[in-house]
Amino acid sequence: MSAGLESAVEAGRGVDGRLILPAEERAALWRALIDAVEDYQAWVGSGRVAPTYDPEAIRALLAPFDFERPIDPVALVRFVAAQLEQHQTHPAHRRYFGLFNPAPTTMGIAADTLVAAFNPQLSTWNHSPFAVEVERHLLRSLATRFGYATDEVDGTFASGGSEANHTAVLTALVQAFPEVARCGLRGLPAQPTLYASGEAHRSLVKAARLTGLGSEAVREVPVDGRFALDVAELVARIRADRAAGRAPFMVVATAGTTSAGVIEPLGAVAEVAAREGLWLHVDAAWGGAAALVPRLRPHLAGIERADSITFDAHKWLSVPMGAGVYLTRHRRILGQTFDVAAAYVPRYTAELDVVDPYRSSMQWSRRFIGLKVFLSIGAAGWDGYAEALEHQATIGDLLRGRLAEDGWAIVNETPLPVVCFVDATHRAGRTADYLEAIARDVVVGGRAWVSPTLLGGTTPVLRACVSNVRTDREDVDALLEVLDISRHRIGVAWPQPAA
Ligand SMILES: *Cc1c(COP(=O)(O)O)cnc(C)c1O
Repeated sequence: MSAGLESAVEAGRGVDGRLILPAEERAALWRALIDAVEDYQAWVGSGRVAPTYDPEAIRALLAPFDFERPIDPVALVRFVAAQLEQHQTHPAHRRYFGLFNPAPTTMGIAADTLVAAFNPQLSTWNHSPFAVEVERHLLRSLATRFGYATDEVDGTFASGGSEANHTAVLTALVQAFPEVARCGLRGLPAQPTLYASGEAHRSLVKAARLTGLGSEAVREVPVDGRFALDVAELVARIRADRAAGRAPFMVVATAGTTSAGVIEPLGAVAEVAAREGLWLHVDAAWGGAAALVPRLRPHLAGIERADSITFDAHKWLSVPMGAGVYLTRHRRILGQTFDVAAAYVPRYTAELDVVDPYRSSMQWSRRFIGLKVFLSIGAAGWDGYAEALEHQATIGDLLRGRLAEDGWAIVNETPLPVVCFVDATHRAGRTADYLEAIARDVVVGGRAWVSPTLLGGTTPVLRACVSNVRTDREDVDALLEVLDISRHRIGVAWPQPAA
């Protein structure tokens, strides 16, 4: 035995003692971990929402880590918790009016801890029968919420909405051109094209690149006055592309656009898709959660006609990242798209009616993504979620009303809690530079978080989303106050536009 190993064993550690800590050290570590989690919960509403931006300071903190000597595990956990607290934008802050990033559910935090500890491998059913069945059960439960018949659904958990959208583009391609799975795009006689409004999530453009279609295959359909996909324009573009020899295969409608939370006309787009023989994908990454709220559910009418749906549990369902969902009512398409034979995967369950996730999805080694969704929905129940989401929608309405009272003009139209607005009290109040200056002033001040965006490619706005389930009336008051201070600070110094 080498001298190094001997000393480690003498010290009461096995050869693995640094990787799997001995029981007493674990006990101290778990206490420190729980303290860090709870201290964060207690602190997060009282500090800054966004950090100050100082890359050099962070690099200086990390420079001493040369990993030449082991460091005390408890000290490491405390160090990281302290730095995350200081150097992070906090979605868990009640005045983070942010980009769909939530305050994580308590059960989600517990789930991710369990998952790391048990480390189930979900590539195959035989490795993790319980975990694979939990995900199958959940996919079916969610599918029912969207109005799918469960005997005809399939689906998969994904890292997020981007992977789900990528899966949608691939499955739509394989459905339209089955030879693509074997021969790729090279064998096709015409350029396949897909249709989405300019307000659709940009992950579609990435998906077009990843599938080899190229970004020009994504035909951007203009929006109407509501910043929703214009159905007449959709039809015109499909016709023009067909006339030019292209091969339309897919249309994407977004239920809750990322910038403005607009629900595009799902029923009308479904009509066009059916008439034109196109795969309808509904990207409901954030807005899909409205299916759980009785008052909001009617706004999603038509989603049940989608060939596939993207839904992100790590957005409005508030589970920790990443928890994307892809659903389809074509039971065999995932297999047709992804199945491969691998000699090293044992066939212990070949005679059972079960599916190996690696054969029906993009990932191979696969984390138990569904557990944080299962535990969160389990502990809250559908009713608990309906109540929480309804609360957020109500606070969104309140925010909309208060902004209008304060001389901000509301620009978007949605029942969901995203508000886009401009400053009606200042001559430059509808310009990108002025609105960006206000957003930056709010964020740098640290008391709240909002962002600037552009609707329809032409209309600059400020955007505030009630993304945290704890956000309440007093947080709306605080945001209004902060916005007003920033508006005055920026407005006074702002150059008047030439008359
Ligand atoms: C957030 C979002 C996505 C991308 O999802 P990720 O989980 O960030 O990968 C896709 N579509 C819409 C409408 C989104 O809001």
